[in-house]
Amino acid sequence: MTSMNGVAALTLPDVDEDWSSWLDGRCQGQLAEARRLVDEMNTHPAAGSTDILCRWNDVNVALSNAASVASLIAQVHPDDAVRAKAEVAEQEADRFATDLSLDKDLYDVLSAIDTTALGADARRVVDHALRDFRRGGVDRDDGTRERLRAIADRETELQQEFSRNIREDVRSISVHRNQLQGLPADFVEAHPASEDGRHTITTDYPDVRPFLTFAEDAQARREIHVQFLSRAWPANEVILQELLALRAEHAALLSHRDWADYDAEIKMIGSGSAIADFIERITQAAERSGYRDRDILLERMRQDQPDATAIDRADSTYYAELVRRERFDVDAQEVRTYLDFAKVRQGLLDVTGRLFGVSYAHVDAPVWHSDVTAYDVHLEGDLLGRIFLDLHPREGKFKHAAQFTLVSGVAGRQLPEGALVCNFPRGLMEHSDVVTLFHEFGHLLHHILAGRHQWVTFSGVATEWDFVEAPSQLLEEWAWHADVVRTFATNAAGEPIPAELVAKMRAAHEFGKGYLARTQMFYAAVSYQVHTRTFDDLTEAERELQSTYDVFPFVEGTHFHASFGHLGGYTSAYYTYMWSLVIAKDLLSAFDAGDPFDVAIATRYRETILAAGGSRDAADLVQDFLGRPYNFEAFTRWLDGEA
Ligand SMILES: [Zn+2]
Repeated sequence: MTSMNGVAALTLPDVDEDWSSWLDGRCQGQLAEARRLVDEMNTHPAAGSTDILCRWNDVNVALSNAASVASLIAQVHPDDAVRAKAEVAEQEADRFATDLSLDKDLYDVLSAIDTTALGADARRVVDHALRDFRRGGVDRDDGTRERLRAIADRETELQQEFSRNIREDVRSISVHRNQLQGLPADFVEAHPASEDGRHTITTDYPDVRPFLTFAEDAQARREIHVQFLSRAWPANEVILQELLALRAEHAALLSHRDWADYDAEIKMIGSGSAIADFIERITQAAERSGYRDRDILLERMRQDQPDATAIDRADSTYYAELVRRERFDVDAQEVRTYLDFAKVRQGLLDVTGRLFGVSYAHVDAPVWHSDVTAYDVHLEGDLLGRIFLDLHPREGKFKHAAQFTLVSGVAGRQLPEGALVCNFPRGLMEHSDVVTLFHEFGHLLHHILAGRHQWVTFSGVATEWDFVEAPSQLLEEWAWHADVVRTFATNAAGEPIPAELVAKMRAAHEFGKGYLARTQMFYAAVSYQVHTRTFDDLTEAERELQSTYDVFPFVEGTHFHASFGHLGGYTSAYYTYMWSLVIAKDLLSAFDAGDPFDVAIATRYRETILAAGGSRDAADLVQDFLGRPYNFEAFTRWLDGEA
């Protein structure tokens, strides 16, 4: 058993049959412990402020332990009975958290703490706890608290149903052999014809992404695009409408104008109206380069379809790839011959290890599926935590790419453990997959490096939610640097990818950044506006907002909101990705563009920003690192720059 000062990693079940009882033991056990601790706090109040706070921390450790395991296992376990059980445990943990946030006695206990005698960290824990109690509605009358409790329960159920519908609704199209024209040989090989001579293409990422990028047949591309953006529709339309109405009521009961304003209160952005302003600001900033690059796509499309007057997203990925190949001389199929999954995974570990001074030791620990690999993470000889990489698709598994917490680290008590859950092919990858891998790994590193705080509410990625993407977006930059990529991207003959090709890939990648920003603002506007206005038909909201914010027109027959998973967790805050990117570009300006392995600056970044977790406001961490407040300059320079 690996341990640091007696702190050991969690032991997962070794045998498939044990999962169900293990999950019960972990989730029910930790929830029972949390309940016991709360009862003790309410019935036998501790004398000293620090004692009260330590008990409060214990409650949060236990609750976080139950909730983390449940939310990971609900998305990844191969046995659907275990996933279903984890969903129930997740609901119980959520319900307990809601009860906690409405517990007046406990609120009184914490309110009585004399914070003048506490240090800055402890004072922050108290301030945030009281703020969160008030945001939960603890100081409202009994009827309001009951209603808030009922709303929260229903919101959890609906969010789970929303995400389950997306996860389980895999659609497909059936194509002729000649409709596979343009796709890589290994893709064609992996999709053999069935008895009727046709080939099935599903809406899972490893199918749909290459198909939209490479398939020459415009009709087939449109069919898969429409299927992809029809997942979970109409089932999720009904669910979303109920969820949005509940969130609006929830916010109103807590005296907020709308859900977006309530949600933004504890984020860097601060208010709902600031989200609207931010969306307008980025929309303007991307105007010039967005339409410029869109017109280049349309011009290229006209070589194939001379009478085309517009290009939409069923065609934009394909023509962007053609433009990249022809204008920038980047052939994605050549690129992928250098991107073998196993080498990329090892390369990611080597690169981040070198940059941040950590090392990863493969451990033969029990995992939930044979695809999963586990590593212990060490920093200067100390065991920091454990990571799990679950990187290939399988039936019933989470369909996107994300980092999940298994355990939140607490100094001297429990090691941080986290998982990357992605859907990459097993053989050759697209470079965009490599970027996604670096991105998600940025979250995982943040989780592990910030896992040594005394207070669990500071642990890991517990920063403001609209800052949380910045460390990940920053790490993406390393996936574009030739000196970095050449360390792991080698072809079957062992030759590294030419530096010149990486430079061209980067230039090609810059192409379209303006229109991509506009598409992002379309998504952000959907996320914000469905939480601030009432739409009878969400597809109509999409049609309206796409014409306002995107440079691409609406595609008839699509219902993107139904599979827009972020409406579940991020709610009105999808702007977060662009907001974080503004800050990521600013953070990047402090690094040496010529030396991607400048350990001194990476160490300072690791210590100042990553290790701090949620112990201070993100704006202050960024200011400490940059030596000045963050601003938009690096971002707008990048966005408006020529490809
Ligand atoms: Zn992310």
